[in-house]
Amino acid sequence: MSNIAGKVVAITGASSGIGEATARLLAQKGARIVIGARRTDKLESLAAEIRSEGGLVELQSLDVTDRNQMEAFIQLANKTYGQIDVVINNAGVMPLSPIEALKVEEWDRMIDVNIRGVLHGIAAGLPIMRKQGFGQFINMASIGAYTVSPTAAVYCATKFAVRAITEGLRQEAGGDIRVTLVSPGVTESELAESISDEEARQVMNDFRRVSIPAAAIARAIVYAIEQPADVDVSEMIVRPTASLF
Ligand code: NDP
Repeated sequence: MSNIAGKVVAITGASSGIGEATARLLAQKGARIVIGARRTDKLESLAAEIRSEGGLVELQSLDVTDRNQMEAFIQLANKTYGQIDVVINNAGVMPLSPIEALKVEEWDRMIDVNIRGVLHGIAAGLPIMRKQGFGQFINMASIGAYTVSPTAAVYCATKFAVRAITEGLRQEAGGDIRVTLVSPGVTESELAESISDEEARQVMNDFRRVSIPAAAIARAIVYAIEQPADVDVSEMIVRPTASLF
């Protein structure tokens, strides 16, 4: 039987794609969840759907690049439910482009959301988990955390960084806190919509034809959470069977 029921899970970037699918699945399994993202209208409709099926959910507007907002988000989970079992650092952006295009603002945004956002989640959750003596971080990397391809240098760099941070945290976390890296291959979501470079967008459109549903990643996340407290699923790559990359 799953031990997900009753666990308190905070999910960043839950307004679409993988975060949304994960929120839905965890709520179905009886987790008490808190969802955050900038598009609160999307969070509202997801929360309404979850509540109509008897699920427990709170929501809050969240920009993960703002440390104070992240702190408030994690505090909301802790105050509402009295503990935090899992923080899923899922929010991410992927405006791909060749380095030559010098889209420096997009580089900065990827660094801020994909790296700083994860660090803010860790900074907000770790003191609470230490005090409790239990907890789990699940950080979203990518197949781009293992290889680099043209137009994806900065995105991959952010995901290599997430992988390094996650492994370092796992080593330092000791016996109480579990740390998991989830690296999806191409997954149906809104991720590629932030690409402003026309050529990179075309290439991605072709590349993303072979994909898996966001629910596939949600199931992997559930697997990592439902293991016993002494079992740490440290790293998972989940990709389309037909994918070469
Ligand atoms: P989506 O674009 O569908 O979801 C991204 C989520 O991140 C949205 O909910 C968005 O919400 C949120 N987000 C973006 N910026 C911020 C911010 N500043 N503060 C808070 N939330 C933010 O894409 P996915 O579901 O695919 O992405 C989820 C994760 O999976 C990302 O980390 C991505 O890099 C990773 N991934 C996805 C793959 C795929 O093929 N889909 C492959 C490999 C990794 P809002 O805009 O409302 O703030």
